[in-house]
Amino acid sequence: MADRRWGREMNYDILLKGGTVIDAAQNLNAMRDVAIAGGVVAAIEADIPEGAATQTINVKDKFVTPGLVDIHTHVYYGVTTWGIRADEVCPTAGTTTVVDAGSPSWVTFPGFREFIAEPAQTNILTYIHISGIGLVYGPVGEMHDMAYANPGRVAETLQAHRDMTVGVKVRQGKMQVGDNGVEPLKLAIKAAKQAETPVMCHIGAGVPLPNILRLLRPGDVITHCFQGNGDNIVDEKGNVIPEAWEAREDGIIFDVGHGAGSFRYEIAQRAMEQGFISDVISTDLHTGNINGPVYDLPTVLSKLMHLGLSLEEVIEKATFSAAKAIQREEQLGHLRVGTVADVAVFEVLDGEFEFFDTHGTKFIGNKKLKAVLTIREGKI
Ligand SMILES: [Zn+2]
Repeated sequence: MADRRWGREMNYDILLKGGTVIDAAQNLNAMRDVAIAGGVVAAIEADIPEGAATQTINVKDKFVTPGLVDIHTHVYYGVTTWGIRADEVCPTAGTTTVVDAGSPSWVTFPGFREFIAEPAQTNILTYIHISGIGLVYGPVGEMHDMAYANPGRVAETLQAHRDMTVGVKVRQGKMQVGDNGVEPLKLAIKAAKQAETPVMCHIGAGVPLPNILRLLRPGDVITHCFQGNGDNIVDEKGNVIPEAWEAREDGIIFDVGHGAGSFRYEIAQRAMEQGFISDVISTDLHTGNINGPVYDLPTVLSKLMHLGLSLEEVIEKATFSAAKAIQREEQLGHLRVGTVADVAVFEVLDGEFEFFDTHGTKFIGNKKLKAVLTIREGKI
């Protein structure tokens, strides 16, 4: 790795100098220099001399964090109504890993792997949908017919592609399951058990939430936790339902999954006032919200900061906690020396910023997180 040039030792490729490093995994929120070499994090120290790297970037007054891990996106571009191109948004957003929340099914996964995930600069992982048709066409409820599910095939696909898959996706609103209640979830859990992976369960109106929560296992993920379309985590009186508290105690993971219809400001506010904070913050980025109200993950993090979380908290929920939810915390979501150099640099802007939830509610935040640099596998 050491390379002698002009009589001076050049150890590192990139040096991020003078920034504040926020890394929950290392319990770090302090001024540190970060050096990258050979695509991995090579050193984090209080003072690394400028001459030690080929390229030194001054990041004074900025925050250096692990690359963001967005566990709910839709990036099956060209095949599904939802699919965006990951590389069009992630490199300008500090996002280095996205997880597609079940656009591919066991049937369409090979195309996802070959044409979407492998060619992308962004690290792309995916949940496999329990429905064999996956999330192809927005208006169609993918589990109206139980014949669409084949848990055995889903499990086999997960087992054969552990490098790229993270679990089973199921959507449990009436729009998606018709009159089938929690039966699709039961099949998703069956597949997940066989493959020893978590389930990610979308919640919405028309299937009672307690019936869903009762079936979930520790490590399974509820996404759209602050949705407000019916069967919310908050009841009509504004109280978080006891079943949600119990699920949290049991180790079920709650994820924001903002989306185009699944982040109601009032629900988030009520839940958070009572101390019910989501474990993970994700976007549910797709064609229907990339031009607002989601835009990108830093925008969603800014909204949660407005709702009372600190910068340190939102970063943790979009890095280390996100990596844990997809069981990738060994490799992703932190800046430990020796791990892949997926790094983001942010500045926090002060001012008056308009944010919208998915129900047209406008709120004004006085801080906004803006990515200024994204490094993926050691490359800017
Ligand atoms: Zn989604």
